[in-house]
Amino acid sequence: VRKLDIERLRSDFPILQTQVYGKPLVYLDNAATTQKPASVIKAMDDYYTEYNSNIHRGVHYLSQKATSEYELVRKKVQAFINAEHLHEVIFTRGTTEGINLVANSFGRKFLKAGDSIMISAMEHHSNIVPWQMACEDRGARLQVIPMNNKGELMMDAFEQMLDDTVKLVSVTYISNSLGTVNPLKEIIQAAHQKGIPVLVDAAQAIQHVPIDVQELDADFLAFSGHKMYGPTGIGVLYGKEEWLNQLPPYQGGGDMIKSVSFAKTTYNELPLKFEAGTPSIAEGMGLGAAIDYLEHLGLQSIAETEGQLFSYAVDALQEIDELRFIGEADNRAASISFLVGDTHPFDVGEILDKHGIAVRTGHHCTEPIMHYFGIPGTVRASIAFYNTTEEIDKLIAAVKKAVMLLR
Ligand code: PMP
Repeated sequence: VRKLDIERLRSDFPILQTQVYGKPLVYLDNAATTQKPASVIKAMDDYYTEYNSNIHRGVHYLSQKATSEYELVRKKVQAFINAEHLHEVIFTRGTTEGINLVANSFGRKFLKAGDSIMISAMEHHSNIVPWQMACEDRGARLQVIPMNNKGELMMDAFEQMLDDTVKLVSVTYISNSLGTVNPLKEIIQAAHQKGIPVLVDAAQAIQHVPIDVQELDADFLAFSGHKMYGPTGIGVLYGKEEWLNQLPPYQGGGDMIKSVSFAKTTYNELPLKFEAGTPSIAEGMGLGAAIDYLEHLGLQSIAETEGQLFSYAVDALQEIDELRFIGEADNRAASISFLVGDTHPFDVGEILDKHGIAVRTGHHCTEPIMHYFGIPGTVRASIAFYNTTEEIDKLIAAVKKAVMLLR
């Protein structure tokens, strides 16, 4: 595995040269969104300056060029996640839309009164609320895989809960709040033994670990462009052909139809059946460039680089007596949540901000996790491959200052 030259790679990201309050930016809010390399910004710029045009309809040169570039991105996604078929790659606005699509379409087709959907105790709101809505709609029940106080899913309980009311399991690969890496293969295998499909929320995994949907045997997998160094407004829902073909369309409109009359509309084939309306075209070009960038670095190299930095950060934070980790799973990645003494996370976040350090404070769209631990929220530092040990040292120094100031 190739070692990454971080100093050189940092220069690919214009924003990393920014100063805030006269101090160099230390960006440790990568779980919220990642920064963009110049190649991603350029790909979007090139589209608007050179071939801006709507796709999938025009006979003219620009439209054909835009269409072929956009469809090339679908191929890049297919290769990136190793989907068997190109039409198993559906473009969405992001993870949230991908999960809503499945919850809505799967719910209408397969959920009935007395059924249940199973999620986990550490899900992001976007992998809770759509299922609650679907369950409410169909008279079904939401089941929640419990976790222990290290922030690990309780696998024995999970397997016991997999009864024949369960129609789908939807879990996150990596927790955005706790950093827990869930035993996804085990979860998928156990569900499949009972014939239950699994949706993987890969919003926090796609940028950190190599993902092969066929090897995982995931039935659905959703992620967002903006968390993998690409733009906002674009994401992907992968679904196995056999499932996608059975699901009804999510939204109606242009592009998703074969023919329309007032009496009857017939729907398009995959993937367009699920892509109503003009998509985020420039953002698609940006996503393609982001994938090129990640492929060039190699996800395995990224995972190793980040793993070392993660351990370095955990070890250093551990030295601070007043600090308490929230989430101490044996297998963790990318996000580190903590509290300092009995101070409010927001107060710590504000002090870090004045040192130019961007972290997130609050519930991170995972309120049930905060209820579980009986806390208002956490301070969360989340890393990307472009972060350095010097930046972690600055974080540690600033946290120590916060401890003194808030004592
Ligand atoms: N799931 C997880 C685990 C996330 O971290 C996020 C983003 N914070 C989402 C889903 C939702 O992603 P988006 O807002 O890009 O749709």
